[in-house]
Amino acid sequence: MTRGTGDVVCLSTGMKQRPKVAKQRVFAACVALVVACAAFSPSPPTMVVVLDAGHGGKDPGNLGTGRYPLTEKDVTLEVTLKLGAYIEENLPEVKVVYTRKDDSYPGLRDRVKIANEAQADLFISIHCDAFADRSARGAGTYVMGMHKSEESLRVAMRENASMFKEEGYEAHYDGFDPNDPDTYIALSLRQNVNLDASLTLGAAIQSQFKNRVGRKDRGVKQAGFYVISYTTMPSTLVELGFLTNPDEEDFLQSEQGKSYMASGIYRAFRDTYLAGRTRSEVPEREAPPPPTESSVSDKDIWFGIQILTTEAKLSPDSPELRGHSQAKAYIRHGLHKYVLGRHLHPDQAHSAKLALRAEGFEGAFVVAFDGETQIPMSRARDLLNLPLQ
Ligand SMILES: [Zn+2]
Repeated sequence: MTRGTGDVVCLSTGMKQRPKVAKQRVFAACVALVVACAAFSPSPPTMVVVLDAGHGGKDPGNLGTGRYPLTEKDVTLEVTLKLGAYIEENLPEVKVVYTRKDDSYPGLRDRVKIANEAQADLFISIHCDAFADRSARGAGTYVMGMHKSEESLRVAMRENASMFKEEGYEAHYDGFDPNDPDTYIALSLRQNVNLDASLTLGAAIQSQFKNRVGRKDRGVKQAGFYVISYTTMPSTLVELGFLTNPDEEDFLQSEQGKSYMASGIYRAFRDTYLAGRTRSEVPEREAPPPPTESSVSDKDIWFGIQILTTEAKLSPDSPELRGHSQAKAYIRHGLHKYVLGRHLHPDQAHSAKLALRAEGFEGAFVVAFDGETQIPMSRARDLLNLPLQ
């Protein structure tokens, strides 16, 4: 065996006779390896959020009053990068994915693809509004759904027009017609299992904009935006304000204005995220009642499959129910949640869920009930003495 001083042979027998310098070198290499291993195997993120700066590259977005060389695409990018930096600095367990970090132009389909492939938990798209009347002002947040006002349709049409900058958009976006009610029904089906979470975040963002940043509150509304229609996670689209309003444009073009808006979205995200995490981390089990005969017979635990969430009550023959006229609705947070099936064991419900997903209810999931009251799955398993998952 060669006992050269420079050889790094990681065998303990060889190391015994090595000069001190080689030993130190091997030790340093081992330390480096351990550090490298630690660096490359971080604990998995607890959440993935995709941040989407609207427009970019050949698509400038709206041009504002024309007093600034920078347009909507520049404002949205800066606010998005600030927001991402706040999250990365303060919530290191949250992974941030950007659809663009520079002046590039990902198509609307590409943005959706990035979010879906990242298996993101949340999608936030950032834009600025524009209107012919320069006095129009205020910040608003949108979630996917059928517009209830001409204004919501106007904003969705303007943002969706970004697709016209893409080569061959006619082929890529075939079937997407924001003016066609059938398009909305198909799109609503994709997103409405996420409606509750999207509305919760939207309300938190608007509250921040109004109360902490002093913006005019245009509320949380529904409209058919392409980028938040095809994503498979809770998704919101934020309109920071009107670049066609001189005062608002001055604010949004300023460093301070961009920082304030990014901070507002960050705080809304943080508070919503932390509230959700606390709920899921704290065991929802209260002290289970002693297993007396009466307590068992008092319970009526069953499992259903939630297929839809809507703001308005549906008629049994609504096309959104796809013929499942027997679906029962329960109301939570003011939303109608439609449930199919009544299974006594969660495994049966999971099988039924898979069949419904195959049928097109892609976001179908299992919910537990005690009689008519929806209860956490963990509580239902507890009451049935099933192992917690
Ligand atoms: Zn835009």
